Amino acid sequence: MDQADIVIVGGGVVGCAIARALSARWNDVFVLEALPRIGMATSTRNSGVIHSGIYYSPGSLKAQLCVRGNSLTYEFCAAHGVPHRNCGKLVVAASADEANDLSGLMQNGQANGVQGLRLIDREEIRGREPHVAATHALVVPSTGILSSEDLVKAYARIATYRGANVVTNAKVDRIEPLRDGVRVHSAAGEIEARCLINSAGLFADEVAGLLGSKMAAHRIYPVRGEYCELVRTRQDWVRGLIYPVPHHLRMSLGVHLVKTVWGNVLLGPTAHYIDDKNNYERNREPVQDFAEAAKQLLPELTLADLVQSYTGIRPKLAPPPGLGVSSASANAISDFIIQRDPEFPQVVQLIGIESPGLTSAPAIAELVEKMAEEILA
Ligand SMILES: Cc1cc2nc3c(=O)[nH]c(=O)nc-3n(C[C@H](O)[C@H](O)[C@H](O)COP(=O)(O)OP(=O)(O)OC[C@H]3O[C@@H](n4cnc5c(N)ncnc54)[C@H](O)[C@@H]3O)c2cc1C
Repeated sequence: MDQADIVIVGGGVVGCAIARALSARWNDVFVLEALPRIGMATSTRNSGVIHSGIYYSPGSLKAQLCVRGNSLTYEFCAAHGVPHRNCGKLVVAASADEANDLSGLMQNGQANGVQGLRLIDREEIRGREPHVAATHALVVPSTGILSSEDLVKAYARIATYRGANVVTNAKVDRIEPLRDGVRVHSAAGEIEARCLINSAGLFADEVAGLLGSKMAAHRIYPVRGEYCELVRTRQDWVRGLIYPVPHHLRMSLGVHLVKTVWGNVLLGPTAHYIDDKNNYERNREPVQDFAEAAKQLLPELTLADLVQSYTGIRPKLAPPPGLGVSSASANAISDFIIQRDPEFPQVVQLIGIESPGLTSAPAIAELVEKMAEEILA
């Protein structure tokens, strides 16, 4: 049986960023990934936005790790050839009420340490994004875009170069707690580790359950987000990133427009609770349903300008409204859960790593590195 210092369950962007950080310090780091390739789940089914950190409550893990992750991600992409662009973004208001919301968002961002935020008027919006309808906008200069597939691969490549073993087709199906570690059973064999890191994304609650941890009670509810794309002839209608004022932050930042690093323009993601964590394609929303949201931002758009694109599934900790929880807690924006398991202190649990997890990954890795240091001391 293999012996390891550290086993990481899940080869998404978070598991791979952690593997990169930990493999600089420890020799035996294993990443066990259930699927045939790394990053095939949520990590490459997203908007690819390098978020700034304006939305999250000051002091929350999301706020701290997003702001830190933003600068770490730019540094990493530049150093390792990951396609990216610091294009900035506009959060646009369509009415006076929404313009007030923009001031609140700006103050929240400033409290989180986001630099360079400023409000602009219709004329300046026209100069930046001539096809967008809005009375006011918040400019967020530190937001950008990247290729999420290249980012995951680059984290994994460096981890492997430093000696980590990234094993695919290795679904973990049993975990036995030992006195000084864990024995992990996967489709690729058994391995004993002194430290286990659960970064299994949508399935992190189930992996916590394999260990018999009470932290499995942090149930993950899958919320699917679907994207459309603008047809090629309309791609020049959008130059950067355009977001609406968010009205249901608990669910999402709102359907937005993203000019990707490849030049195509995405519209999405929507947000609907689903029953099956593997259901990416069944019962897709009709393209007509996107047209309304799209017209709020780009009034010239018609249905013929949109084509269906991919989907991604958010690992939400907030249950659907009406599921036996008070409306107050159902409406709360949940924070990332990243902690050593109180019952199994050799295990670090990462649960509910939804957006801005892509951006926060290198900062999450720094935090987990400190926890691993305590465990392996
Ligand atoms: C629609 C959408 C848009 C988003 N947009 C953005 C954005 O623009 N910017 C941003 O910062 N964030 C965004 N996010 C969030 C971001 O994509 C996630 O936070 C991030 O990808 C989470 O990474 P992860 O590694 O935790 O999860 P995953 O990518 O889900 O990786 C977990 C891995 O664990 C594996 N696994 C599960 N169970 C097991 C098991 N038993 N054994 C072995 N392996 C297992 C899975 O196969 C998977 O590969 C978005 C998310 C969605 C859904």
